[in-house]
Amino acid sequence: MANVYFDHNSTTSLKPAVLEAMMPYMTNQHGNPTSQHSYGRNAREAIEQARRQVAQAVGAQANEVVFTASGTEANNFAITGIASNMEQAQILTSAIEHPCVSNPAKAMQYRGWQANSINVDAQCQLDLQDLQTKLATPTNLVSVMLANNETGAIQAVEKVVAMAKAQKAMVHTDAVQALGKIPVDFAALGAHAMTVSSHKIGGPLGAGALVLSKRVDIQPLLYGGGQEKGLRSGTENIAAIVGFGAACALATQDLSAFASHTAALRQHLEEGLVATKAVVFAQTADRLPNTSFFAFENIDGETLVTALDKLGFAVASGSACSSASSEPSHVLLAMGIDPDMARGAIRVSFNMDNTLAQVDDFLIALTQALRDLRQMTAVAA
Ligand code: PLP
Repeated sequence: MANVYFDHNSTTSLKPAVLEAMMPYMTNQHGNPTSQHSYGRNAREAIEQARRQVAQAVGAQANEVVFTASGTEANNFAITGIASNMEQAQILTSAIEHPCVSNPAKAMQYRGWQANSINVDAQCQLDLQDLQTKLATPTNLVSVMLANNETGAIQAVEKVVAMAKAQKAMVHTDAVQALGKIPVDFAALGAHAMTVSSHKIGGPLGAGALVLSKRVDIQPLLYGGGQEKGLRSGTENIAAIVGFGAACALATQDLSAFASHTAALRQHLEEGLVATKAVVFAQTADRLPNTSFFAFENIDGETLVTALDKLGFAVASGSACSSASSEPSHVLLAMGIDPDMARGAIRVSFNMDNTLAQVDDFLIALTQALRDLRQMTAVAA
């Protein structure tokens, strides 16, 4: 069992202070927020405080935050909910979106929409020229992520917003990977909707949010008792929402410390990778400081991940969220990477708990794993 965790873009451990904030709502504070008595009022106030915390962390107003059960849910809600209340036209998503953005966009094709994707270049940056060309077709919704989960490449969402608005299209951005790693400012971006998720920032599973500008007319995700201003009915997961709020406050407290600590680890890692002949993807792009995505010729990424796990290191092959399939990463394919090379990709993603000594140990383990795997291939040949 691995004991060094280098997979923080997949999920993070719950921060102790977050658990502490959640505990009352899993034990004695068990009120339903719609109840009139003091239990209900306390629960309601706890949710509103969490809403303010999330809003503050992302540069939004509290009444723009709609709680959901995950980032996946918020992305589905944004795409299908916004599109459903607009005239059918083109919906554009970048070629590197998480499937929980690209698949709902494709699903809108059954409701008369035309779904197309925007290209990226070899460094995983959105091709703005391609966006401009595709915007010539009547477009009502554009979704481009703020930072990619695999390469960490940060996208020019502000420019996307300006270009899309010139064509009167709405813009959604998936900021799930950006939150807690780089500054996220909903108001400054000017997007109409933005997704964030709790378990990526030291909060619990079971909470996410769609940040939604008041200008947007959206179809409710769930109909029922009218919770979340009627947009997502269902009794709220209070403990998870409270944890999400607490995690937001903690994760955005000192982003420069996160950037300097994790970027130093990544630099050390990537300097060490030179000797292993790794190809590092999107290395010259503006990237999340904690993320490194790389591959080796003639090495299968999943086999390498298993070998590293046995040596004590938890890393990801491609995107953990889509690792149920062994297809090469769609992100790397969109960047024009050869499919054989893409199959060999592994991702390391750090957080504040990781150390330079762990990176040194990892480089030793990686060298050993590569040697063993190459020897096995040579014997089999
Ligand atoms: N968007 C991105 C960019 C992600 O990386 C992920 C998960 O990895 C999601 C959305 C889905 O978020 P959640 O796990 O909260 O459903």
